[in-house]
Amino acid sequence: MPERQPFDLQPYVERTQNGPCFICAFLSGHPDYCHHLLFEDDFAVAFLARASSEAGREIIQALGYVLVAPRQHREHATADFTQSEYLRLQMLVYQVGQALRAELPTERVYVLSLGSQQGNSHVHWHVVPLPPGVPYEQQQFHFLMSENGVLEVESGEMAALAARLRQRLTNLP
Ligand SMILES: [Zn+2]
Repeated sequence: MPERQPFDLQPYVERTQNGPCFICAFLSGHPDYCHHLLFEDDFAVAFLARASSEAGREIIQALGYVLVAPRQHREHATADFTQSEYLRLQMLVYQVGQALRAELPTERVYVLSLGSQQGNSHVHWHVVPLPPGVPYEQQQFHFLMSENGVLEVESGEMAALAARLRQRLTNLP
Protein backbone atom coordinates (compact mmCIF):
# COMPACT_ATOMS: atom_id res chain seq x y z
CA MET A 1 0.00 0.00 0.00
CA PRO A 2 1.62 3.34 -0.97
CA GLU A 3 2.22 5.77 1.86
CA ARG A 4 -0.36 8.55 2.14
CA GLN A 5 0.89 12.08 2.60
CA PRO A 6 -0.75 15.12 4.18
CA PHE A 7 -2.52 17.48 1.78
CA ASP A 8 -2.82 21.25 2.08
CA LEU A 9 -6.53 21.63 1.54
CA GLN A 10 -6.79 25.44 1.70
CA PRO A 11 -5.35 26.34 -1.76
CA TYR A 12 -7.46 23.56 -3.28
CA VAL A 13 -10.66 24.86 -1.67
CA GLU A 14 -9.71 28.41 -2.70
CA ARG A 15 -9.29 27.36 -6.33
CA THR A 16 -12.47 25.30 -6.29
CA GLN A 17 -14.55 28.21 -5.05
CA ASN A 18 -12.88 31.13 -6.83
CA GLY A 19 -11.37 29.66 -9.98
CA PRO A 20 -13.13 28.75 -13.24
CA CYS A 21 -15.23 25.60 -13.52
CA PHE A 22 -12.53 22.91 -13.52
CA ILE A 23 -14.28 20.69 -16.05
CA CYS A 24 -15.10 23.50 -18.51
CA ALA A 25 -11.52 24.80 -18.06
CA PHE A 26 -10.09 21.33 -18.75
CA LEU A 27 -12.26 20.87 -21.84
CA SER A 28 -11.31 24.27 -23.21
CA GLY A 29 -7.61 23.43 -22.86
CA HIS A 30 -6.74 25.70 -19.91
CA PRO A 31 -3.10 24.85 -19.08
CA ASP A 32 -3.72 24.94 -15.31
CA TYR A 33 -6.48 22.39 -15.55
CA CYS A 34 -5.05 19.45 -17.49
CA HIS A 35 -6.11 15.89 -16.87
CA HIS A 36 -5.44 12.56 -18.53
CA LEU A 37 -8.40 12.06 -20.84
CA LEU A 38 -9.71 8.48 -20.98
CA PHE A 39 -12.78 8.76 -23.16
CA GLU A 40 -14.74 11.40 -25.00
CA ASP A 41 -17.66 11.59 -27.33
CA ASP A 42 -20.02 14.41 -28.28
CA PHE A 43 -21.85 14.16 -24.95
CA ALA A 44 -19.52 13.07 -22.16
CA VAL A 45 -15.93 12.68 -21.02
CA ALA A 46 -14.03 10.49 -18.57
CA PHE A 47 -10.67 11.55 -17.15
CA LEU A 48 -8.29 10.83 -14.30
CA ALA A 49 -8.87 13.06 -11.29
CA ARG A 50 -6.02 14.83 -9.59
CA ALA A 51 -5.73 17.40 -6.86
CA SER A 52 -2.61 19.10 -8.20
CA SER A 53 0.60 18.50 -10.07
CA GLU A 54 4.19 19.66 -9.89
CA ALA A 55 7.37 18.87 -11.84
CA GLY A 56 6.63 15.36 -13.04
CA ARG A 57 4.50 14.37 -10.04
CA GLU A 58 0.77 14.36 -9.58
CA ILE A 59 -1.12 14.50 -6.32
CA ILE A 60 -4.07 12.15 -6.36
CA GLN A 61 -6.52 10.68 -3.91
CA ALA A 62 -6.35 7.15 -5.31
CA LEU A 63 -4.85 5.36 -8.28
CA GLY A 64 -7.47 5.06 -11.01
CA TYR A 65 -9.73 7.77 -9.55
CA VAL A 66 -11.87 8.69 -12.56
CA LEU A 67 -14.41 11.45 -13.10
CA VAL A 68 -17.21 11.11 -15.64
CA ALA A 69 -18.98 14.30 -16.71
CA PRO A 70 -21.16 15.75 -19.43
CA ARG A 71 -19.32 18.07 -21.80
CA GLN A 72 -21.88 20.80 -21.26
CA HIS A 73 -21.88 22.70 -18.00
CA ARG A 74 -24.86 21.08 -16.31
CA GLU A 75 -25.21 21.06 -12.56
CA HIS A 76 -27.96 18.85 -11.25
CA ALA A 77 -27.47 15.10 -11.33
CA THR A 78 -31.02 14.28 -12.33
CA ALA A 79 -32.85 17.58 -12.97
CA ASP A 80 -30.55 18.73 -15.78
CA PHE A 81 -30.87 15.56 -17.86
CA THR A 82 -33.49 13.65 -19.71
CA GLN A 83 -33.78 10.02 -18.67
CA SER A 84 -31.95 8.87 -21.77
CA GLU A 85 -29.12 11.38 -21.26
CA TYR A 86 -28.81 10.25 -17.67
CA LEU A 87 -28.67 6.60 -18.71
CA ARG A 88 -26.07 7.42 -21.33
CA LEU A 89 -23.84 8.91 -18.63
CA GLN A 90 -24.43 5.93 -16.38
CA MET A 91 -23.43 3.58 -19.19
CA LEU A 92 -20.09 5.37 -19.29
CA VAL A 93 -19.83 5.11 -15.49
CA TYR A 94 -20.40 1.37 -15.84
CA GLN A 95 -17.80 1.01 -18.59
CA VAL A 96 -15.23 2.98 -16.60
CA GLY A 97 -15.88 0.78 -13.57
CA GLN A 98 -15.34 -2.34 -15.65
CA ALA A 99 -12.16 -0.93 -17.22
CA LEU A 100 -10.80 -0.06 -13.77
CA ARG A 101 -11.55 -3.56 -12.44
CA ALA A 102 -9.71 -5.07 -15.38
CA GLU A 103 -6.70 -2.79 -15.01
CA LEU A 104 -6.19 -2.43 -11.25
CA PRO A 105 -6.56 -4.73 -8.24
CA THR A 106 -10.01 -3.68 -7.06
CA GLU A 107 -11.92 -4.85 -4.02
CA ARG A 108 -14.88 -2.61 -4.76
CA VAL A 109 -15.79 0.14 -7.24
CA TYR A 110 -17.15 3.29 -5.62
CA VAL A 111 -19.59 5.44 -7.62
CA LEU A 112 -20.91 8.75 -6.40
CA SER A 113 -21.92 12.23 -7.47
CA LEU A 114 -21.34 15.10 -5.07
CA GLY A 115 -20.36 18.66 -6.02
CA SER A 116 -21.71 21.90 -4.62
CA GLN A 117 -23.36 25.10 -5.81
CA GLN A 118 -20.48 26.86 -4.02
CA GLY A 119 -17.70 25.02 -5.88
CA ASN A 120 -17.29 22.22 -8.45
CA SER A 121 -20.86 22.78 -9.63
CA HIS A 122 -20.37 21.07 -13.03
CA VAL A 123 -21.97 17.73 -12.26
CA HIS A 124 -19.68 14.70 -12.36
CA TRP A 125 -19.54 11.14 -11.15
CA HIS A 126 -16.63 9.77 -9.16
CA VAL A 127 -15.68 6.23 -10.15
CA VAL A 128 -13.01 4.99 -7.78
CA PRO A 129 -11.44 1.56 -7.34
CA LEU A 130 -10.83 0.62 -3.72
CA PRO A 131 -7.68 -1.52 -3.67
CA PRO A 132 -7.69 -4.72 -1.63
CA GLY A 133 -6.28 -4.55 1.88
CA VAL A 134 -7.54 -1.15 3.02
CA PRO A 135 -8.68 -1.54 6.65
CA TYR A 136 -12.44 -1.26 7.08
CA GLU A 137 -12.28 2.01 9.02
CA GLN A 138 -10.22 3.57 6.18
CA GLN A 139 -12.64 2.60 3.42
CA GLN A 140 -15.66 4.48 2.00
CA PHE A 141 -15.72 8.24 2.73
CA HIS A 142 -12.48 8.05 4.70
CA PHE A 143 -10.73 6.69 1.61
CA LEU A 144 -12.08 9.49 -0.60
CA MET A 145 -11.20 12.47 1.59
CA SER A 146 -7.94 14.28 0.94
CA GLU A 147 -7.98 15.36 4.60
CA ASN A 148 -6.93 11.76 5.29
CA GLY A 149 -3.90 11.95 3.03
CA VAL A 150 -3.11 11.82 -0.68
CA LEU A 151 -0.74 9.92 -2.94
CA GLU A 152 2.12 11.30 -4.99
CA VAL A 153 2.46 9.49 -8.29
CA GLU A 154 4.91 10.07 -11.13
CA SER A 155 3.29 11.69 -14.16
CA GLY A 156 4.70 8.90 -16.34
CA GLU A 157 2.86 6.29 -14.26
CA MET A 158 -0.37 8.28 -14.53
CA ALA A 159 0.05 8.63 -18.30
CA ALA A 160 0.70 4.90 -18.68
CA LEU A 161 -2.36 4.01 -16.63
CA ALA A 162 -4.42 6.47 -18.66
CA ALA A 163 -3.22 4.88 -21.90
CA ARG A 164 -4.22 1.41 -20.70
CA LEU A 165 -7.65 2.60 -19.54
CA ARG A 166 -8.13 4.52 -22.78
CA GLN A 167 -7.39 1.35 -24.70
CA ARG A 168 -9.99 -0.60 -22.74
CA LEU A 169 -12.62 2.12 -23.16
CA THR A 170 -11.93 2.35 -26.88
CA ASN A 171 -12.34 -1.38 -27.40
CA LEU A 172 -15.72 -1.63 -25.77
CA PRO A 173 -18.28 -3.77 -27.49
ZN1 LIG B 1 -18.43 23.53 -16.25
